[in-house]
Amino acid sequence: MNNYRMETKCVQGGYTPGNGEPRQIPIVQSTTFKYNTSEDMGKLFDLETSGYFYSRLQNPTCDTVAAKICALEGGTAAMLTSSGQAANFYAVFNIANCGDHVVASSTIYGGTFNLFSVTMKKMGIEFTFVAPNCSDEELAAAFRPNTKAVFGETIANPALTVLDIERFAKAAHEHQVPLIIDNTFATPINCRPFEWGADIVTHSTTKYMDGHASGVGGCIVDSGNFDWLAHADQFPGLCTPDDSYHGITYAEKFGKEGAFITKATAQLMRDFGSTQSPQTAFLLNLGLESLHVRMARHCENALAVAKFLKTHEQITWVSYPSLEGDPYYEAAKKYMPNGTCGVVSFGVKGGRVAAENFMGHLHIAAIETHVADARSCCLHPASSTHRQMNDEDLLAAGVSGDLVRLSCGLENAQDLIEDIAQALEAIKE
Ligand SMILES: *Cc1c(COP(=O)(O)O)cnc(C)c1O
Repeated sequence: MNNYRMETKCVQGGYTPGNGEPRQIPIVQSTTFKYNTSEDMGKLFDLETSGYFYSRLQNPTCDTVAAKICALEGGTAAMLTSSGQAANFYAVFNIANCGDHVVASSTIYGGTFNLFSVTMKKMGIEFTFVAPNCSDEELAAAFRPNTKAVFGETIANPALTVLDIERFAKAAHEHQVPLIIDNTFATPINCRPFEWGADIVTHSTTKYMDGHASGVGGCIVDSGNFDWLAHADQFPGLCTPDDSYHGITYAEKFGKEGAFITKATAQLMRDFGSTQSPQTAFLLNLGLESLHVRMARHCENALAVAKFLKTHEQITWVSYPSLEGDPYYEAAKKYMPNGTCGVVSFGVKGGRVAAENFMGHLHIAAIETHVADARSCCLHPASSTHRQMNDEDLLAAGVSGDLVRLSCGLENAQDLIEDIAQALEAIKE
């Protein structure tokens, strides 16, 4: 399946039924699995043979869907998680522990910013945030001897900045650490960060991958490119025996291709248990089957809406990386020549109050804490997802008081534009 093109992988990746087997992926709704002898089971616990024993660690339905996403990203191993938050937490915590440090882009999703700057900080992990468009000198100055990873988003939610993945990968590798990229907004249809040097990719599958607002989920994919053993001192968790797992040294036993995901499953999933349910994985797979068809339409609709907003006198600014003139237009063209995402951010004349007023007059786009749904939706981040941030953090995150985040769905583009036009008309003084 790995030799096929993206569209074929979306539809058929991860699962090839045998003779007389179900055409659709089976939902293995079972917490546990039966074995004939305790010895058989013991081998599974020792990671001597692969197989299933308890769905907190692994489940066949979830693995089938993870394999599809792995193929789409061009990775060597992948795992599903209960949410995007869990995916980002595991991806970072798998290599950065108490006393360690991570460099992250300042415009990342508010939930991830909070996870890093508040919750993981309490665990003794320090983060230095750098602007995605910082200078090479500023980026280099962010590293410390105890830095274990660099983290950024392909397209930031909701700031819509585009990360120069190649430049961030180069800086990470010069400091002997991997680059972790949250590829939620672009999806592998529009960008495959491994092709630009990223080492680990994460997803909130809740967004475009599911695409129908039906299931919260996440995914971690390993490129298999980062040589942990070559930097063994930096990554003792992967390169020294795990006493909690019968003395296994992940990087030795599973190699570059499998060590990261095996450790995250055997250790973090075992202990934290943020698993995706097989039912949700099944829904996620339905979404993935049409991801390539939907992404193209999301992008087409968003570009039409962005172009309309750009010329409207009641709109003070528009941010959409595929829109000519956008500060990230060149980066978007390089990393995502076929389109970026369906989300457009803009400012409504009259600021915070006008923005909220405008949203109340929309008929098609509903006010929701969500993006990337087949149905258009909108949000005022300053009063919702980002309300825990002070003004300084908001500014660094690229979120102003008048910012409306509009997620263009799969409706008719002209209907979306006419709806926006009537809402702007309604709030005119
Ligand atoms: C939504 C989102 C997350 C968090 O994912 P959940 O599935 O809501 O936990 C992480 N990163 C990005 C870029 C997101 O948009």
